[in-house]
Amino acid sequence: MKEIKTDVLIVGTGASGLFAALHLPRDKQVLMITKDEVRHSDSFLAQGGICVQRDENDFDSFMEDTLKAGHYENRRESVEIMIRSSREVINELISYGVEFARKDGELDYTREGCHSKPRILFHEDITGEEITSKLLAAVEKLPNVTILDHVTMLDILEENNQCYGVVAEQGNGTLLSLEADYTILASGGIGGLYTNSTNYPHLTGDALAIALRHHIQLEHIDYIQIHPTTLYSKKPGRRFLISESVRGEGAKLYGADGKRFANEVLPRDLLTQEIHKQMEKDGKPYVWLDMTVLGKDVILRHFPHIYERCLQEGYDVTKEWIPVVPAQHYFMGGIHVDRYSKTTMEHLYAAGETSCNGVHGANRLASNSLLESLVFAKRAALDLTGKWEDARISREEIRSLAEETGAKIQEQKDNLAAVYRHEVLEEIERVKKAQ
Ligand SMILES: Cc1cc2nc3c(=O)[nH]c(=O)nc-3n(C[C@H](O)[C@H](O)[C@H](O)COP(=O)(O)OP(=O)(O)OC[C@H]3O[C@@H](n4cnc5c(N)ncnc54)[C@H](O)[C@@H]3O)c2cc1C
Repeated sequence: MKEIKTDVLIVGTGASGLFAALHLPRDKQVLMITKDEVRHSDSFLAQGGICVQRDENDFDSFMEDTLKAGHYENRRESVEIMIRSSREVINELISYGVEFARKDGELDYTREGCHSKPRILFHEDITGEEITSKLLAAVEKLPNVTILDHVTMLDILEENNQCYGVVAEQGNGTLLSLEADYTILASGGIGGLYTNSTNYPHLTGDALAIALRHHIQLEHIDYIQIHPTTLYSKKPGRRFLISESVRGEGAKLYGADGKRFANEVLPRDLLTQEIHKQMEKDGKPYVWLDMTVLGKDVILRHFPHIYERCLQEGYDVTKEWIPVVPAQHYFMGGIHVDRYSKTTMEHLYAAGETSCNGVHGANRLASNSLLESLVFAKRAALDLTGKWEDARISREEIRSLAEETGAKIQEQKDNLAAVYRHEVLEEIERVKKAQ
């Protein structure tokens, strides 16, 4: 097994992994790994935007909107941290070159379902790509950070509830022992476990399977968000999202009878239920969405990529209705973390969609996840830096731990992905039934 020693290991190169890297000290060696291409993360797919507290008067209403969407099951403390940190994070993004839409030189805010006022910053309908590509460019300039693509975490190196890094596999099948004083799991959601999902298929919740095996606490792993409107297609693969802001701007939903059947800006879970009911009533695998009411100018200015993509699928959204269907979209639950993004295992942090800090409760408010990912990834980086402690066991002991872990993996390597997939889905079902 090939060995690499680093100070901090970050699993995942989405927004949370990159933002954590940017907040680690420059005198620490940081290794980032990603299962696929560096740019293949859900962070690049985010369309609608990123929330920000508009001003002091917006605090209560932002809090209430988030809690209401989350069915009041949110951790209030985490929501407060997110809202209070939002302006600073947005200013940081702008300092990395992120360009948000502006009107007369001032930041322009849009609104999505369940927000009582416009507080979402956006870049056309490719906000995630704009943010994540600028963060990636900033990380690539850092001499202390190395990124390895097509390297998959298979297990963690653990002894006595402390993490010493991970065992990973390179694209060519070589096993790697990646030893680290601290590890941050930033490995995203679980959409790859579902047939219909807006997520990248390689996001299969590997960190959750590993957490289960090592008795790291999970939280609310049955809280899975279905997005009400993705473009219906008979083709297999990732479903294309028709952003919530399309409905926030006034697009309407219709059943087969050409009549409206729901309030389009209901919270995602409630609107999904309404759409499923309508699909059943109509006996169709989709309902209709009318974007034509937005007018060609708004569509081309605000939603140019949705326009283009629908055109490729044979629909001109400026002239005709499109068929839409709900699909798995977001994972509210995850690896339980505290207010500093620390898991229940020593020297192990988790941030972004793979973690659960309680911000989203039972249902995520639109455009809160990029913000939550960035705020809590930064907190992970700052927290571990503040309490830095080298590994408690010697390099020799870590080496033999890696050999032991590697040998166990070797036995199961050919079907490990299938086993992990099964274990996560089984646990989700178990938790659902226990409710
Ligand atoms: C279509 C779409 C639209 C969205 N729109 C919005 C929006 O408008 N606003 C908003 O706030 N949020 C939106 N979201 C949600 C948001 O994009 C994600 O929640 C957020 O980007 C998650 O960031 P992350 O860093 O946690 O994970 P990701 O960006 O998904 O990154 C996960 C990383 O982990 C790596 N990885 C996974 N498993 C392993 C492994 N075993 N070993 C090594 N690497 C691994 C992946 O390769 C990837 O690099 C949207 C999501 C989708 C899918």
